[in-house]
This record gives sequence, C-alpha cells and structure tokens, in this order.
Amino acid sequence: MDTVDRATRSKIMSKVGREATGPEMKLRKALFARGFRYRLNVKKLPGSPDIVLPKYKAAIFVHGCFWHRHEGCKYATMPKSRVEFWTKKFEDNVARDRRNVEKLLEMGWRVLVVWECSLKGKDTGKVERTIEEVVRWLKSDVRFAEVPNDSIDDVSGLEEKLLDDS
Ligand SMILES: [Zn+2]
Repeated sequence: MDTVDRATRSKIMSKVGREATGPEMKLRKALFARGFRYRLNVKKLPGSPDIVLPKYKAAIFVHGCFWHRHEGCKYATMPKSRVEFWTKKFEDNVARDRRNVEKLLEMGWRVLVVWECSLKGKDTGKVERTIEEVVRWLKSDVRFAEVPNDSIDDVSGLEEKLLDDS
C-alpha cells in the first residue's frame, strides 16, 4: 500500500538523490573530519563547484567519470546506441567543464577535479590516498590539478596542457 503522498515522496526522492552521491559525501566527510570547512554547490561560481573552500581559494569538482568523460577510465563507457547523440552530449559536457575551469582560474580561484572512481569501491587504501592528495593540493599553491590522473607534484605540465588545448 502506498501511504506516502506525492509531495512527501518527491521530498524523500530528492533527499535520496542528494545522498546518493556517495563519492562526494566520502570526500566531504573526510575533509570535515580533518578540520576543513567548506560551502557546497556554490551557484554563483562558474559550474557551481561541489565543494568550495574560500579560505584556500579552492573550488573542487567531484566529477562522475561517465558524464564528464574521465579519459582512459573504465567508467567512461560509450553507450552502444545513439552514438552520435552521446558523442555530441559528451563533447558539450567536456567543453562546458573546461570553460568553467578557465573562468574560475581567471577569477583567481584554484580548481581541483576529483574523479569519482578515485573515491569509489571497497579499496579503502585508494580512497585514503585520494583524500591525502586532495589535502596536499589544498595546502599547496597549485592552481589546477586532477585526482587521480596526474601526480600533484607535476602540475606545471597540467596547467600547460589546459592552456594548450583551449
Ligand atoms: Zn574515472
């Protein structure tokens, strides 16, 4: 029997929707536990970054590997039908992400992209390493980096890559 009215149901569903982003929650909780304070989904910033730490001038995106096309990642699969549609959609997503990063950098923000696969799964060692990398980046003055693709030690190359491609 359905005892939940529509409004309540949609409220529950939206709550589920928000909490369903497990990887992002993992990162948030870990940062909070380490004493970092942040704002979430800051809509006034380009791309409304997921986690914003004004004190560190840091904007963090936790990107789903499928929608945002994590290069070389096993989760960045291509659907078997409507390939043209998906190709276009993915290209648009990637282009939008890039523009948002560039705008944020121009505004003086530092930007970190954390790919969801680095926060997923039962390998707690991997998740722990991801979080340590995020913390290291926060305390650095590196302007742009990705986790886990590239070592944060070598981000000069990353910034060049970002500028070259644009
Ligand atoms: Zn990935």
